[in-house]
Amino acid sequence: MTPKILMIDIETAPALGMFWSLFDRYIDPEWIMEPGYTLCWAAKWLGKDKMHFSSVRKHGMVGMLERAWLMLDEADAVVHYNGTKFDVPTLNREFVIHDFAVPAPFKEIDLINTVKKRFRFMSNKLDFVARQLGVATKAQHKGKEMWKGCMAGNKDDWDAMEGYNKQDVVVLEAVYRKLLPWIQGHPNFALFVNDNEPRCPHCGGTHLQRRGYYYTDTMRYARWKCMNDTICGKWSRSRANDLDADKRKSLRVGVK
Ligand SMILES: [Zn+2]
Repeated sequence: MTPKILMIDIETAPALGMFWSLFDRYIDPEWIMEPGYTLCWAAKWLGKDKMHFSSVRKHGMVGMLERAWLMLDEADAVVHYNGTKFDVPTLNREFVIHDFAVPAPFKEIDLINTVKKRFRFMSNKLDFVARQLGVATKAQHKGKEMWKGCMAGNKDDWDAMEGYNKQDVVVLEAVYRKLLPWIQGHPNFALFVNDNEPRCPHCGGTHLQRRGYYYTDTMRYARWKCMNDTICGKWSRSRANDLDADKRKSLRVGVK
């Protein structure tokens, strides 16, 4: 068994509203004619080829949500870009509005956190970062017109939206693979595999090289590097400390 890691991206429709001036900064909720909603989503299991896609046009709102819900419910971890703030709570809102139960809990791997915390790119937008990393790039689209066309039910615009949404997931996966050893808080892959082989926590690879130690104030742990360098290179450390009983006894706890 391996962890079920889901890559997901959603596209939403803007709210429609009334406004008196182009320069208004605040729109009273009273002037919302129709709140925004989820148009579609694309998702893919890590390690599987099939790209899943559903939209309000293809399956209706409830049918679309049901398909997303089933995948989230099955996932051990969900990979997204800014999805902790956007995609996941947006879907949750749709779920609660449409009387869905709470899906089984999953870990979230929001790649924007890794990008912001561990690097300094000129822009943290997914497309910019993906270009800088030299991986797949987002699909071009004709901007707001595509959204308007989808909301009006135009087939060509929906085809473009589907392609765009799916390509975002392709980019997401490529960025995930590139950032894999840099991610913090990734689920421990080894826990999902039913054997006693030491494994890299991020990719599950078994080719680990012992390299130096990780130190806390009072303990020392063997350090490992994943040699699955083409896709990983994650540093990890042993769970049990490496000091013998006499050495441990000789240490004065709390010396800072
Ligand atoms: Zn690895």
